[in-house]
Amino acid sequence: IDFRSAVFLQSASQLENSPDDSGSEVAFAGRSNSGKSSAINTLTGNKKLARTSRTPGRTQLINYFDVGPDRRLVDLPGYGYAKVPLAMKEKWNRELERYLQHRQSLRGLVLLMDIRHPMRDQDDQMINWAATASMPVHILLTKADKLKRGPAQNTLLKLQGQLASFGGLISVQLFSALKKQGLDSLEKTLNR
Ligand code: GDP
Repeated sequence: IDFRSAVFLQSASQLENSPDDSGSEVAFAGRSNSGKSSAINTLTGNKKLARTSRTPGRTQLINYFDVGPDRRLVDLPGYGYAKVPLAMKEKWNRELERYLQHRQSLRGLVLLMDIRHPMRDQDDQMINWAATASMPVHILLTKADKLKRGPAQNTLLKLQGQLASFGGLISVQLFSALKKQGLDSLEKTLNR
């Protein structure tokens, strides 16, 4: 897949407004501020593609990007932003669940976690949902440049240990948009 060819396709406020559910797509999920926009922009080599959010949690839209014939990247709204009203959070959680459960073309999730705060509640929920659905998950421990090499490696190993019980369904790697660290590994996983 040539991620550099990514073009914006469509935004959807709910599942029904999404592009045709054919072909295959990979969805990027994570808490607000986890570095999701930065990762997508780094992967696609396009600084403006997923707008690095100044007001996290505001755009409650599913954004679809075309990365080849019938292949898509999907940017799911960040979860867990404290200042979003509860009613909006609940609405979004329902939409997220519906997307995850009903989207036939969804082949896997890239789950982003700030390396300094991995595995918060909703991350755990996402992983458990994915495991139940046998959906592959590739975790990016983002902003890896914020930790020294040793502590970053320890966090990676610890998480790999915690997730070993899921078998081969879940993989984890370090990632830094700032240093372009882990880009090869992410591309390899997405091309599988
Ligand atoms: P999103 O809300 O998940 O889309 O997160 P953003 O991509 O907007 O990033 C949130 C904040 O983390 C911004 O201030 C980014 O500049 C910062 N950030 C993102 N990626 C990195 C990284 O690799 N290294 C560092 N040091 N900061 C990053």
